[in-house]
Parts: sequence; C-alpha cells; structure tokens
Amino acid sequence: MMKNVIERAKENDSEHKVDMFRVKQQMDYSFKKKYAYARAWEFYGHPEVAGSCYVAVGGLDSITLLLFLRSIGIDVPAVSVSALEDKSIQAVHKQLGVEALKPLKSKVEVIREFGWPVLSKEVAGKISHLQHPSEKNATVRHAIITGETGAYGGYRKGTRMKLSQKWLEKFGGYENESEGVNYSVPDFLVSDKCCYYLKEKPCSDYAKQTGRSPYMGLMASEGGRRQKALMLHGCNYISKGTKRSCPFAIFSRQDLLQLALDLDVPVPEIYGEIVRDSDGTLRTTRAQRTGCSMCGFGVHLEKRPHRFDRLWERSPGEWKMWMTHVDQLPDGTWYGWGHVLDYIGVGWREPWRQFEEQLVIGGGGNRR
Ligand code: SF4
Repeated sequence: MMKNVIERAKENDSEHKVDMFRVKQQMDYSFKKKYAYARAWEFYGHPEVAGSCYVAVGGLDSITLLLFLRSIGIDVPAVSVSALEDKSIQAVHKQLGVEALKPLKSKVEVIREFGWPVLSKEVAGKISHLQHPSEKNATVRHAIITGETGAYGGYRKGTRMKLSQKWLEKFGGYENESEGVNYSVPDFLVSDKCCYYLKEKPCSDYAKQTGRSPYMGLMASEGGRRQKALMLHGCNYISKGTKRSCPFAIFSRQDLLQLALDLDVPVPEIYGEIVRDSDGTLRTTRAQRTGCSMCGFGVHLEKRPHRFDRLWERSPGEWKMWMTHVDQLPDGTWYGWGHVLDYIGVGWREPWRQFEEQLVIGGGGNRR
C-alpha cells in the first residue's frame, strides 16, 4: 500500500517535470536564449562543479554550444573524438582549438569484436543479449522473445521488451529450443556498444582524468534515447554519479540554427550553409544532421539514396571497403555492410543508379 503511494507520487512528480519542460519548449527564441545563459552559468557556479567543466564537441549543435559559451564568458576546454567526424567538421574543430581525443579502438575493431551497429540502439542491445546468453540475462531474453517479464518484472505480459515480429523472425532463433519457436539466426554479431567505445568512453575517461564535467549540445526535440532523460532531469543534472549540463535542452532545430546565425558560427561544409525558406524556416542546404558515415542505426528507415549510397558518392573506395571487406565469416569469406544489409532486406548494390535518376530528374528528364 505504502509502496503504491510512493510510486504514484513519483509518477506524478515525473509527469509534472515533463509538463513543465514542454511548456518551456513552447517559449520563444529570446526566452530560450536567456534560459540557456542562466542554466550554463548555474552549472558553472554549482559548488560541485565550481568551474571545472569542458565542452563535448561533435557536429553543428555542439560547435554552436561552444561558441555560445565563449560568447557569454564561459571559456573552458573543448574536446572531441574528432577522427570519427567528417573531414569538414574536423577542420572547424581545428580552427576553434578543439582538443582531439583518440577513440579507444578503431571502428573496424569495434565491429569485429562486438558486432554491427544496425537497426536501432535499442533493438541492437536486445539482439546482443540473445547472442550472449547467460544465466543472468535469462529473464531479459525471455522477455525479448515473449514480452513476458517473469517473476523479477512482476509477471507483466505484452511489454515493450519484446522484439518486433519482423526482427524476431530474423534474429530470435537463439531461443528456438528454450521458447519452442522457429526463428532464424544471422551469421554475424549485432551490438549497441559502438558509440560507447568510440565516443562515450574517451570522453568519460577525459572527464575522470581531469575532474571536469561536460557541457553537451543535446536537444530533447531531436528525439532519441536521451530525450526522456533530458525532459525528466532538465538542462542541468547533478547527482552522485553524473554531472552534466545541456543548456540547449529545450531548443528546437530552428532555435539552434538561429543562434548559429546570430553567433556567426563557422558551418562545416558537410552541412552546406544555413538558409531561410520563403516561409521563414531555417535549414542547412546539405546534410541536416551528421554522424559516422558507416553507422547502420536507422538505415533501414531511409529511402535510397541512403547514407551508404552517399558514402559511395563521396568516396567509392571507402564504400567498397565498408560494403565488402570488414570482417570474415566463419568459413573465412570477407564480408561487410552489404552482407548485413542483405540480411535485413535493405538494398545497397549499384548505388550509382540512385544518382543517375536524380540527374535525369534534375536535368529535366532528357534521357531517352
Ligand atoms: S554513431 Fe554509429 S557508428 Fe558512430 S559511434 Fe555511434 S554507433 Fe558507432
């Protein structure tokens, strides 16, 4: 009874926090800019932080954050695992004096050791549990196949832990015997650990070694797995294990681009330039967002030309390597993203055709 009351109070509190966050998201640009100013200084001055901070820099969002912080007088070190970013982003990092951190392993090493970052982080994590069965994760594996949480999870049924039927058919076969099902298994590993080894660990090691806490350019409006945490904890989060500040948490993409214009932020070439459409909407003329060019998260949701087609357009040699020559199958055959994409039903062959068609459309359809 008492437990129920406490749980309900906690739920109400969380709902209230999320509602308040949503109200702030609806405010205008000038409010959000002042709010970001206040939160950034509040974090800097918190007794447990006491000015010992750094900026974690990646793409345009966090480059804008770095320049925003400098513009309001917060001049702290900026670090990035730059090697993972596009060359034009690396050039801007250099220009701004961002310190380059080394990834702990290469992208190829991470894939060979842990598996392919494909589908989504959440789905990859579930498949990875199925591929690494232990007594400890037995309940989780049962929930992934059936949606039932068992004794530890209060015997709930139909939970979101269950993999969608489509991916169960392809990846659920590890539990065929134990669950009495008849699904397939792939001949490659899948993993959600890539970001951790390539991006997160080098930054958290830097934080540990220097005793500094990060400013990050995250925005809840971008969705993703951090959205909920941002809405619950707000811009500044200081707890026993975590200290971080996300002054742009309530920003929309439009707010971010407006601030980038106001601050005259050097926009890396991969984004093109920031322009305003006739209805007033701001956008970048090339990439809207960037990430690792070889990442497979979300590729199954993209239309062609998808990111791997674009990789071919930019760098055919790199494309060939990533598509065909990353790791070896048990029989020694070399394979790459092509094999993984075939397995999940995503087309990747003949990327040039995607661009031929675009040229024809762009050129007025003159091809006979
Ligand atoms: S964005 Fe994708 S490829 Fe890049 S580190 Fe994260 S999981 Fe790996």
